[in-house]
Amino acid sequence: MRTLVQSLLKLFYPPLPSCVACGTTFTSIYPLAFCQGCLDRIPFVTKPVCSRCGRPLRGGDHEPCHECQSEMYYFEQAMAVAVYDGYMRELLHSAKYDFRPDLARGLGTILAVWAENEIRLEGIEAVIPVPLHPEKLAVRGYNQAKLMAEPLAAVLRRPLYTGVLQRVKPTVSQSKLSRRARKENTRNAFAVVDCPAVAGKEVLLVDDIRTTGYTLSAAARALLIAGARRVKALTMAVGVTTERWQG
Ligand SMILES: [Zn+2]
Ligand SMILES: [Zn+2]
Repeated sequence: MRTLVQSLLKLFYPPLPSCVACGTTFTSIYPLAFCQGCLDRIPFVTKPVCSRCGRPLRGGDHEPCHECQSEMYYFEQAMAVAVYDGYMRELLHSAKYDFRPDLARGLGTILAVWAENEIRLEGIEAVIPVPLHPEKLAVRGYNQAKLMAEPLAAVLRRPLYTGVLQRVKPTVSQSKLSRRARKENTRNAFAVVDCPAVAGKEVLLVDDIRTTGYTLSAAARALLIAGARRVKALTMAVGVTTERWQG
């Protein structure tokens, strides 16, 4: 009897979900996996932003931003939800290195909510997470970009292509390299194994972090060679270097 009452209670009053980052129970705003306290700590990108790369424009920086004037990227437009700093840096680090696939997917729910009604994503026909090299995938156990892209693709109601783009060159961790070495490191790192899947389409590349943009640019290049009509990029966070903040 007691269990029946408990089951009925659970049915009508399901337990509150707990925040994927801090574990606090909270009233969820579907599909968000984070409590309000954690959301308040995330350094979201605020306008004005560079229309080309999505970085916040600060300190008299004009359109297109300093970075976009000196670099050529193969993606047409890049967007980011947060600045790679503070709490967002901690979350992304944990999602990647602490075996937290739940956190990676949880971060994807922020991408999903952000993407709803986002005009820049209206023409997107397929979502493609930036793949890991098979060796790295075997070590980590999951591709955090893929997990982040899942809730996003669901909200956009677009197919998620996970086998179409492949990483064919094992790359050294970008964070340890100089700018020039990073560019060299990503050269020919990607290949499209199913060209008809992307031919003529506008596709959205999804990754966790963008710093120099070289990885996304190399992936975009491979997709364009395979016949994609247009490539845009969305990352959970974008790096904003100190030099840029200073001028
Ligand atoms: Zn929380
Ligand atoms: Zn820019």
